[in-house]
Amino acid sequence: MERPFLIAGPCAAESKEQLLSTAQLLFETVEQKKFHIHCFRAGVWKPRSNPKSFSGVGEKAFPWLQEIEKRFGFTVCVEVATPEHVACCEKYGIKTVWIGSRTSVNPFMVEELAQSVEGKDFTVMVKNPITPDLALWRGSIERFLEKGVSKVMAIHRGVPDSHENLLRNAPVWEIPVELKVSLPDIPLLCDISHIAGNKEYLRQIAQISLDLSFDGLMIETHIHPEQALSDARQQITPDELYKLLSELHFKQIPSSPVEKMLRKERNMIEHIDTQISRLLQRRWEAIDRIGVIKKENSIPIVDAKQFGKIKELYMHPFVDDPLSQEFIKQYLELLHQNSIQRQKRDE
Ligand code: PEP
Ligand code: MN
Repeated sequence: MERPFLIAGPCAAESKEQLLSTAQLLFETVEQKKFHIHCFRAGVWKPRSNPKSFSGVGEKAFPWLQEIEKRFGFTVCVEVATPEHVACCEKYGIKTVWIGSRTSVNPFMVEELAQSVEGKDFTVMVKNPITPDLALWRGSIERFLEKGVSKVMAIHRGVPDSHENLLRNAPVWEIPVELKVSLPDIPLLCDISHIAGNKEYLRQIAQISLDLSFDGLMIETHIHPEQALSDARQQITPDELYKLLSELHFKQIPSSPVEKMLRKERNMIEHIDTQISRLLQRRWEAIDRIGVIKKENSIPIVDAKQFGKIKELYMHPFVDDPLSQEFIKQYLELLHQNSIQRQKRDE
């Protein structure tokens, strides 16, 4: 398979105009310039948490997608969640589909879907299930392989994380890496949009996945991301996609194994530091809000009990590690002094 395998296109098909103009710009700014787009994506049936949210235009989008195939030569792919969806794709000659994370979690549905594509020459891309369960993901992929589907790929989209996190879905990189070890012949793509949840983090997630030897990327692309009916914050314009792709290192620049290892770890550190700096920003915002509440209610700024609680929170994971403990102690002191200064500033 040609690397990197690129999938681009909007989260959802919204209108003929939106779909065709996105495809046209992708063709002109990305495909014709430098990067081959292997698949144009568009969700036609959208699995939304809130029943009142935009849930896709359904079958109406297929003639638009056919036009995109004809005009720009893109292979089109859509999400399918039921055998009826598969039948609809067949009706319009669309033979590349992905199984979403809310479907790949359910062995009954996956089995039904596998039966519905049996013997029909579909390319099936299976996203990791919404729960962090490698065996379940592998099992969903194997259900298609067992039915003789020869073109099967895996897409990693992270897993929901109950902890307050800057990313929409936690990458848990060990899961796709393990999948690749156990199914080395299945191409592995990274859906950076659904991991990031915000276009600000796309580049770093993409680079980490490429450094981990992923075979390609899925990137949600919209002609006017700010007007998107779903996932507006994580979508980028075709121009932004071109810029993003231009900034990525796709091939390992010939270098020693040591240099490669270092680059991989440094990318990871860069990513972690971005997260820490954004989290600190959020922390300061909360500190400022607390400052206002204290001021309005004449509550003293320093609360020793509260500081003790936070100290415990930080120290807990490092009970057996004196070096880390010493760092945390100094760090907390700084953090605490800084909070006091911020709140005093507003007095
Ligand atoms: C999508 O790709 O638009 C989508 C709904 O993905 P996921 O199943 O990963 O949430
Ligand atoms: Mn989406």
